[in-house]
Amino acid sequence: MKLSRPEHAAPADAAARRAIPPVICYPVETLPRPDVAGYRAVRPGWDLLEEVIVPPREARFFEVQAGHFFRIVSIEGPQVGDLNLWNLEDLTERFYSGKTRALHGTHLSTGDQLWSSLPYLRPMATITEDTLDWYGFDEHGGSVHDVIGTRCDPYTHYLLSGGENYHHCCHSNLTRALAEETRLMKHACEFHVHDVLNVFMCTGFTRDTGQYFMKASPVRPGDFLEFFAEIDLGGALSACPGGDCSSEHSSDTAACHPLKIEIYRPQQAPAGWEPPAPNGYDRSHGTALD
Ligand SMILES: [Zn+2]
Repeated sequence: MKLSRPEHAAPADAAARRAIPPVICYPVETLPRPDVAGYRAVRPGWDLLEEVIVPPREARFFEVQAGHFFRIVSIEGPQVGDLNLWNLEDLTERFYSGKTRALHGTHLSTGDQLWSSLPYLRPMATITEDTLDWYGFDEHGGSVHDVIGTRCDPYTHYLLSGGENYHHCCHSNLTRALAEETRLMKHACEFHVHDVLNVFMCTGFTRDTGQYFMKASPVRPGDFLEFFAEIDLGGALSACPGGDCSSEHSSDTAACHPLKIEIYRPQQAPAGWEPPAPNGYDRSHGTALD
């Protein structure tokens, strides 16, 4: 992080250099946008296909067909969820939180899309409703549903705790859930677990040091985040051991609650919608070599 007392003196034109206005890295005016109203129009009369309960400090795998919806619902008490998404037919295509962040910002809400990894880079899911959209950004710069954190994991915990093994970090929960579903060895599954969408988590960066912070999630039972599946999805959701993430994660001390996943099948596909194809870049990378 930045030194509070830098070693080097500011140059004479420091103020002018700092005053240069920022430019958005990825202007999204030319990014194809989803028709959220069209997606929502097919919700009335939809069928609830399946409900999956994610126990506290555990994760569960679920499947959603392209054109269906899923909701992550808060039940019983404030709880943060760590979400992984894969192409159901190909685990190498998975949610790319970094590029999603670059395109849509640090925290997601209605109309934002969850993009897949290179070389696919296509929308995997579109957020169609967010009952916490009222929160916006608070006085600390915090907001909900971030793509700036990673996922709590036992390796970082091992480093920070002086050598403690803890097995219910979201990374491990997601690894177990994927292993139980795919029957792959857990060490193979671990490499498919990736950075998450932190559902319901309230986070930001401190202004003075730029450090990642968390604070008690504003989520309450009944709140949900709703997605439209753009492609056939395999998902895994972990009920983070941090509970509402008001104090700490990576331990059994926080009050933890289950989460519910609801999967819905609409009566028809949204008008004009088709599953997006993988990215159209020719993949030559400027060389004729194979
Ligand atoms: Zn976690």
